[in-house]
Amino acid sequence: MLDIRIGQGIDVHAFGDGDHVMLGGVRVPHDRGVLAHSDGDVVLHALCDALLGALALGDIGTHFPPSDPQWQGADSRRFLRHCAQLLRERGWRLGNADVTVICERPKVGPHADAMRALIAQDLDVARDAISIKATTSERLGFTGRGEGIAAQAVCLLLRA
Ligand code: MG
Repeated sequence: MLDIRIGQGIDVHAFGDGDHVMLGGVRVPHDRGVLAHSDGDVVLHALCDALLGALALGDIGTHFPPSDPQWQGADSRRFLRHCAQLLRERGWRLGNADVTVICERPKVGPHADAMRALIAQDLDVARDAISIKATTSERLGFTGRGEGIAAQAVCLLLRA
């Protein structure tokens, strides 16, 4: 039996008033913010859902219900560190993760290495195990019209 697991996650947040978006734990200056209960970090939310999916432990909403006031404005790195703990408890470690951000703006590339460093730190892996990349949707759809931002993540878990 192969001791590997895969997981995938998707997250979307609408843009609203504000002057920055949180992406991969990094505060990225922007002329919009995101509408969210937590800090609305689509990179970390998609990644958490990928990790939880690989563990077959539900999704971020079951672990951190939006109805719970303690998660109001929460730093999503707390969610990620919780997922890292679940991994350890169940005898898994992250092999690699690959995240794609989908938006027209803000530009993600200049911040990607900083995101990789924070995520690698929280998941206790080398930075080269974490990929952050971005694409536009060629001005099509809600991301193309600048109404919101999306992210997709996949991960591979290995037996610790
Ligand atoms: Mg979210």
